[in-house]
Amino acid sequence: MKLVYTHPSNIVVAQARNSLERAGLKCVIRNEYAAGAMGELAPIDVWPELWVLRDRDYERASLALAQSSAPIEEADWHCRHCGSDCPATFELCWHCAGTRAPA
Ligand SMILES: [Zn+2]
Repeated sequence: MKLVYTHPSNIVVAQARNSLERAGLKCVIRNEYAAGAMGELAPIDVWPELWVLRDRDYERASLALAQSSAPIEEADWHCRHCGSDCPATFELCWHCAGTRAPA
């Protein structure tokens, strides 16, 4: 087994796993439910981790993640009304409540 990817969000790691599964690579997520241990361990130790089962899949897995058509993380967007940078998960501007410009 080899660690290919880690991220603090279970959702992002699950997306990465989907990319690998689409590429036909066997993989598992570890630490998926470890967040409850946060506070006793350094946070990096409890990030969910994506592992490939076969070491030789590692390079293909890295490639599959790099080429993944679905962005693993959406970029922030820029409010056209007030110019604030807003997180991708926000539908309205945090600053002026302006609507997000259609992509
Ligand atoms: Zn705004």
